[in-house]
Amino acid sequence: MDWKNLPSGGGGIEDRRGGGGVPGGGIAIGGIGGLIIALVAMFFGIDPGAILGGGDGGQTQTQTQSQAQAQAQSQSSAATDESYQFMDRIMTSTNQVWGGIFKQAGRTYTPARLVLYTRGTQGGCGVASSASGPFYCPLDNKVYIDTNFFATMQRQLGGGGDFAYSYVVAHEVGHHVQNELGIADQVEREQRSARSEAQANQASVRLELQADCFAGVWGNRVKDQAKITQADVQNAINTAQAIGDDNLQRQGAGRVVPDSFTHGSSQQRIKWFTTGFQTGDPNKCDTFNQNYNQL
Ligand SMILES: [Zn+2]
Repeated sequence: MDWKNLPSGGGGIEDRRGGGGVPGGGIAIGGIGGLIIALVAMFFGIDPGAILGGGDGGQTQTQTQSQAQAQAQSQSSAATDESYQFMDRIMTSTNQVWGGIFKQAGRTYTPARLVLYTRGTQGGCGVASSASGPFYCPLDNKVYIDTNFFATMQRQLGGGGDFAYSYVVAHEVGHHVQNELGIADQVEREQRSARSEAQANQASVRLELQADCFAGVWGNRVKDQAKITQADVQNAINTAQAIGDDNLQRQGAGRVVPDSFTHGSSQQRIKWFTTGFQTGDPNKCDTFNQNYNQL
């Protein structure tokens, strides 16, 4: 993949790396694989800010002097930093692709923004920590990524590769697209009226698989520009395989409980990413109007 061929400057990136973390941080608000507990909490009508001790955009007030200084220092070198540039191009490109798709459909699209951090940071959905894994906060329209996560991916989650990392970012932007389309709200309502936890989980799986499909749609739209090869696609598939709920459960508790799936199985995640990638058509990503057992 040649990501340097992608456009830059529109990533809306807030660079909070080297910010020293959040005192007493370490509250996970998501899980590996992009679980958004904050969003889930919102689905159940709980205010995530209250649980997670986060404010709503109060991050500048709670920031200590030393954090602010460290941030200023890291920002001064940001423009030449490879991982910053990578993130900026992936974000610029995803926003551009979705902006185009929305425009064609006669809708307006507000670009997603990205917060890069290390250790921990305050956000609209509370405290983000390294244990969170990448996530999207629908309350401030920002994707949060600890850049060290990519090293974790390489070691533990099916290997790395630029397109695999891009898939993770594009999946989170996929959640932003769902937010823009009102799908996230719809799922929230569905989950509130769910008769069981298993039913609420099914709505989450549909939402997550659609975000995988949306990530694939982006990949399709930039495959020539970014020179995405078969090996790149395989890297993304390896990641989808690794972050499937069945695989994570097998490696964690050692027991697979489909009713507790929130993101979908490895096979489903591969299927929906591939559907998006092969068609480039967001209309093919309708995971909601399908029999659950056939997803
Ligand atoms: Zn997700």
